[in-house]
Amino acid sequence: MHPFTLERPRDLSAAIALGARTGRNDAATEYIAGGTDMVQLLQENVRRPDHLVALAGLLDHDIDAGSERLRIGAGSTMAEVAAHPQVASEYPLIADALLNSASPQVRNQATIGGNLLQRTRCPYFRDVGYAQCNKRAPGSGCAAIGGENRWHAVLGTSNACIAAHASDLAVALVALDATLEIRGPARQRTVALAEFHRLPGSTPHIETVLDAGEVIAAVEVPRSATARQSSYVKVRDRASFEFAVVSAAAILQVDGDRIRQARIALGGVGTKPWRVPAVEAALSGARLDASAIRPVAALARQGSRGYGRNDFKIELMQRAIVRAVETAGART
Ligand code: SF4
Repeated sequence: MHPFTLERPRDLSAAIALGARTGRNDAATEYIAGGTDMVQLLQENVRRPDHLVALAGLLDHDIDAGSERLRIGAGSTMAEVAAHPQVASEYPLIADALLNSASPQVRNQATIGGNLLQRTRCPYFRDVGYAQCNKRAPGSGCAAIGGENRWHAVLGTSNACIAAHASDLAVALVALDATLEIRGPARQRTVALAEFHRLPGSTPHIETVLDAGEVIAAVEVPRSATARQSSYVKVRDRASFEFAVVSAAAILQVDGDRIRQARIALGGVGTKPWRVPAVEAALSGARLDASAIRPVAALARQGSRGYGRNDFKIELMQRAIVRAVETAGART
């Protein structure tokens, strides 16, 4: 492990001032909160900061379900959010996504902000024995293209990187039109979560729109009468403590046997949490049964590309959409 100093500032403003000394991902100064992902990356030499700035105890960890919106402090743990009574009853999609993530031990430690910033599970990224990884070593190439890419993305990919985004929570929050409150050295701003993660393009090492020193302070979810009629379907290689091969979140507004409005997001298939507006538009007015939903789900293929071993995801994501919509439709 690369040696580093651990700095424990007295408050968030002081932490941000320290964090702003250097740049974005893989910089000489990095933040650490729950540390569940960061510690692994430090141990494996994937991240080699000179300084770590501890955010533990400095981030807001309140969960406030108000009349207009749900506000989750970024320092809340995954377990705290999943167990919150109003989250479970009014925003079950969030609780479902969280409880389908990681292990109880990890959920007790990992923060919501850290969950949204977790790095990809691409094995070539996480093993420094592989020289080619544009995300870890810009300009070195991509070992996954033409390599073992069963877990990789089929949407939003580039010639530089095809790594899938790993967060279940982000899929649920994108479907719920969540926004992030971001604090930095010069300003506080709000960013839609759908705009927060960047497509890899030619710079896959720059994963978000965060500027130097900025931190996620809170997540806000607008209140929606339809948020209860939702479903999160996660397909994975084993029943627990596993990342999604494919996942689908569905939120419906239903009138009799017809869908009036749908919000659909996908995980495990995109280089970022992935909304499918063509599917959402075509579901509006569709009958709530599999024979009507199946051809609409096929629209999710638009713009997709398989890389050999992950070709199956293109079909699987359509099936996951059908299952998620059917399941959400059966809930009242
Ligand atoms: Fe690296 Fe991305 Fe290629 Fe994986 S897919 S090896 S993270 S560049």
